[in-house]
Amino acid sequence: MQSNGNYRKIQLLIEKELNLPSPPAIAVQILNAIQKEDAALAELGEIIFADPALTAKMLKVANSGVFNCNGEITNIQRAMSVLGTNTIKNVALSFVIATELSTNDDSKFNFDLFWRRSITVAVSAELLARTIQHADDDIFVTALLQNIGTLVISMTKGDEYNSLLKDAESSTQSILDLEKDKYGFNHQQVGYALLMNWKLPDSIAEPILYHHLPESAPETYQQSSEVLQLADQLASVYIESETAEKARIIQKKLIEKFDIDENQALSLLDDIATSSSRIIASFDLDPGDIRPYSSLLQEANNELGKLNLSNEQMILEMMEAKEKVEKLAQTLTDANIRLKELVYRDGLTGLYNHRYFQESLSNELARAARYHSSVSLILFDIDFFKKVNDTHGHPAGDLVLMNIARAVTSAVRPCDIVSRYGGEEFAVILPETSAAGVKVFAARLRRCVEGIATLVDGQLIYVTVSAGATTYDQKRAKTTKSDLIETADRGLYLSKQNGRNQVTVLEPELSID
Ligand code: GH3
Ligand code: MG
Ligand code: MG
Repeated sequence: MQSNGNYRKIQLLIEKELNLPSPPAIAVQILNAIQKEDAALAELGEIIFADPALTAKMLKVANSGVFNCNGEITNIQRAMSVLGTNTIKNVALSFVIATELSTNDDSKFNFDLFWRRSITVAVSAELLARTIQHADDDIFVTALLQNIGTLVISMTKGDEYNSLLKDAESSTQSILDLEKDKYGFNHQQVGYALLMNWKLPDSIAEPILYHHLPESAPETYQQSSEVLQLADQLASVYIESETAEKARIIQKKLIEKFDIDENQALSLLDDIATSSSRIIASFDLDPGDIRPYSSLLQEANNELGKLNLSNEQMILEMMEAKEKVEKLAQTLTDANIRLKELVYRDGLTGLYNHRYFQESLSNELARAARYHSSVSLILFDIDFFKKVNDTHGHPAGDLVLMNIARAVTSAVRPCDIVSRYGGEEFAVILPETSAAGVKVFAARLRRCVEGIATLVDGQLIYVTVSAGATTYDQKRAKTTKSDLIETADRGLYLSKQNGRNQVTVLEPELSID
């Protein structure tokens, strides 16, 4: 007992400030019966038996598995012999007090929540004590009543105290300090005062006086106080939010403090959930949804699994999307290549057009200059082509142009560039080809065209070409693109002048002169 003079003052203050409820009649009977050593068992049995509701509840609790016993217990005598007088006394007291102190018309205090929580704390304390082998026969009822001071203050102070409790949730100050500041006493002291008034044993009242500060308790009650404190934390896993975080902290604390491993801590947490549900129900309260921590963990893992699955799904979809984008990009590239072809090709003959000819000649000249090599150019024009059109019609002329294009394309090397220079004028760029080479090739080209027959309306049309050719090489390194074209054109002109169907090869100097 708290023996200093201070406590007497506090007790007087409590009695002045609060209406301490008187003990329930049956509780008094039970406590009296317990005093009478020998007769205790029989009398306790009679007291309980006289109250059918209490008997039924006692049997439910006896069979709940919370207290150390196995097998079906069907009558109160058997319950007493199996569980022991003390346990029966404690459970009976718990019922009687919880039933008595569960309504107050003037208060908005949530009695259901209070007792639901207190029962969970009681179950936690009982199971924890068993796990760590702490011997305290009264731990269940002690834990159940550890916050009875809160209830008593609320019964007198009502909303004023209820809002203090609410403030305490978000305050940096402890609930004990907030209570002391406001009333001069705290709920530990109120609970203690009440239970002393009711003549409950010290073994119950003392640990309650220190349940927030076990280290200040007298040595005899220190571990019980500590069990109360830990039981409160264990119960809070199931009562309030942030279950996982609280479970982790209390598990760690238990493992560090006592000689138990992670599995034991986990099964303790699970047992608290299943047992609390049953015991809360036997107090005629709605246990709500108290699921064992490991099944909460399992659910969380499943959710995580689903998340991972949707992650995988997302990656899959992204890969598919990427593939689609890549395909689209390829399609675009292909389309661009085709567009470029269209831009550089002549629609009728399929040869490169004038623009491509100009660009290619620039490139080939630059390359020849860079590598000190040569490049040749042939320009050729169909002789009297106007006459072909006039005689056979424009479409026949088109056929002739197409045939010449095809024949010339197959006559050249893959690196040579054949283009339609104008209406019926063509150009061939011959990279790495000397003046001697171009002379031979131009002659061959002229002969090739001469041999092409175009069949129109059962008639074969033959045409000839006049050509001009020239070459860029190291000897004429300063020759420009227009020099080259002008020279070839001059050659072509000379071929026409000299009677057509012939080739004139000129050196670029001639054009410079
Ligand atoms: P030469 O070159 O030998 O002096 O006589 P030519 O009759 O060929 O001369 P000219 O340059 O006067 O005539 C070229 C003709 O080519 C005129 C034009 O109608 C024709 N021509 C140009 N482009 C096409 C074409 O795409 N299709 C057809 N069918 N004829 C074309
Ligand atoms: Mg012509
Ligand atoms: Mg012409």
